[in-house]
Amino acid sequence: MSRLCLILFGAPGSGKGTQAKLLKQMLSLPHISTGDMLRERVARKDALGLEVEGILQAGGLVPDETVNRLVSDRIEQPDSVKGFILDGYPRTVRQAEILVALLRALAVTTVVVHLEVDYNVVIARLAGRRQCPACGALYSLSPNAPTVSEVCDYDGATLVVRDDDREEVVTERLKAYDRQTAPVLEYFRRMQTPHFALDGAQPGGPQVIARKIQDYLKTNFGDYLITGNPGNRTSR
Ligand code: ADP
Ligand code: AMP
Repeated sequence: MSRLCLILFGAPGSGKGTQAKLLKQMLSLPHISTGDMLRERVARKDALGLEVEGILQAGGLVPDETVNRLVSDRIEQPDSVKGFILDGYPRTVRQAEILVALLRALAVTTVVVHLEVDYNVVIARLAGRRQCPACGALYSLSPNAPTVSEVCDYDGATLVVRDDDREEVVTERLKAYDRQTAPVLEYFRRMQTPHFALDGAQPGGPQVIARKIQDYLKTNFGDYLITGNPGNRTSR
């Protein structure tokens, strides 16, 4: 069976991480988030973490070579042998060019799923985003609130606010998305990469969106999938 690369594409706060956590259970594919990988390195305070910390805090983009290397190393891991879900990568046309060349060389079939969400919605979502520091579960103040305020449903850890979800940093991240990331869609169009755009703020919330992505993949890429039910957990 060939490998499938599912690229979750969209602005910060469009729901990429939430969808990745739901879909990885249904597709039995690993969730590869460059943002998570970079935050882990920052927390570990290793050389790379120290190098990128200021960039993440300011809402800018880490150099292409750094994230390209992280992703190419990660997809060599044994759990990526059937395919993988990319969240937050590629974020520049240069990253996309490197990725497309790499996936071609590896004969990986690629599909882009674009979560379309208005900026006023993502700004409100990011202001209310909470995450479990232990299991990675994502919450919001509403509609995806934890049962007990500020406490993870799965392990009872106190939820945290991401450093870069402060309003002034969100503005910078959205500027970076506009200038550097949005043009990646046009690149994929030129490359004729299969593309599925859907409303990332539709009624029914994350579960309904995950089902629509599941249906699209089943119809168009069924041969690549070990199908199951979409998960209901937004934790790791
Ligand atoms: P991204 O990974 O694209 O930055 P997240 O998945 O972290 O986005 O989602 C951002 C915030 O929006 C989180 O607080 C999450 O719980 C919430 N969220 C995600 N998807 C939806 C949705 N379909 N409807 C409402 N809120 C959502
Ligand atoms: P995310 O968790 O995807 O919102 O990413 C958080 C931050 O990590 C971004 O604001 C960037 O500073 C950095 N980052 C994540 N992915 C990339 C990428 N593909 N290219 C450059 N910087 C990235």
